Amino acid sequence: MFRSLPRFEFLSPKTIEETIALMDQYGQKAKVMAGGTDLIPQMKNEEVKPEYVLALSQIPDLEEIQFTKTGGLKLGAACKISQIDRSDIIREQYPLLAQAASVLGSTEIRNRGTLGGNLCNAAPSADMAPSLLVLGAKAVIASKEGERVILLEDFFVGPGKTVLEPDEILVRLEVPPMKPRSAGAYIKLGIRKAMDLAVVGVAGVISLESKNGTCEEAKLALGAVAPTPIRAKEAEGVLIGKKLDEAVIQLAAETASREASPISDIRASEEYRRSMVGVLTRRAIQQALNKIEP
Ligand SMILES: Cc1cc2nc3c(=O)[nH]c(=O)nc-3n(C[C@H](O)[C@H](O)[C@H](O)COP(=O)(O)OP(=O)(O)OC[C@H]3O[C@@H](n4cnc5c(N)ncnc54)[C@H](O)[C@@H]3O)c2cc1C
Repeated sequence: MFRSLPRFEFLSPKTIEETIALMDQYGQKAKVMAGGTDLIPQMKNEEVKPEYVLALSQIPDLEEIQFTKTGGLKLGAACKISQIDRSDIIREQYPLLAQAASVLGSTEIRNRGTLGGNLCNAAPSADMAPSLLVLGAKAVIASKEGERVILLEDFFVGPGKTVLEPDEILVRLEVPPMKPRSAGAYIKLGIRKAMDLAVVGVAGVISLESKNGTCEEAKLALGAVAPTPIRAKEAEGVLIGKKLDEAVIQLAAETASREASPISDIRASEEYRRSMVGVLTRRAIQQALNKIEP
């Protein structure tokens, strides 16, 4: 059935400060829109009814990608998913992020949808979340009071809910530099090969000791199997300080599977999701290990 959009006023601020001032003025009546690929369908379905839509598309500061070897990566919240997928610096320094971006939606969705929109929409299946969680990303949030910085793992509160107050926007993500002898992988399982939300998504980053090759640091994160994207910290604990042989990896995979709290829905059963967390965790660890130079 064709549904038209409810009436709203469209505003196009040119700076972050102007956006924040408008949010302060209109409060709960306003919604920011980045690519609109989540927001517009929600407005059509009358799940949200903003009187004012504040577009973020005319604010170049929000689309910046900056990298330094010591400071790491700064990613503007309005970076398009396709920008992340195609960026040479991201492909070189954080291939895991480019990998996650490359499997989100279709070319059209990646060309419109943004990183900030993916995170702020807070779907448990958001493809960009697990990779950023294992990379230790921080979220920079702005309001008229100034900026505050939190770990991305503290950003999600529940399905569709974040810590953002109505007068706050996500400005950028900050990702620390990758450790030497470390690599990551993101594996997404969907029902179809393309244009499908994750039924399960698993990201992992493994760092090895330079001398003896044991696991110095391990980070694992799961998507679509809990009310928010989550870290699998017990499974990480199984890996740290060990030689990563098959038995250790299998134990970590089984532990991750127990840490998940999936639901059954039309796309997959709880049991299937839980069992696939184990399979994908094992594969993500192995893929990350295979990428670390001997
Ligand atoms: C056909 C289709 C396929 C899709 N496939 C996938 C998929 O495979 N994987 C996946 O993860 N997602 C998928 N999506 C969902 C969506 O495309 C992504 O989540 C996308 O990244 C959202 O970005 P956006 O810029 O369009 O967000 P918008 O729709 O503009 O915004 C989403 C929400 O975030 C808020 N918001 C946006 N930016 C900010 C900000 N800077 N600060 C505060 N709040 C903000 C908005 O107010 C809104 O509530 C799909 C969507 C469609 C329609």
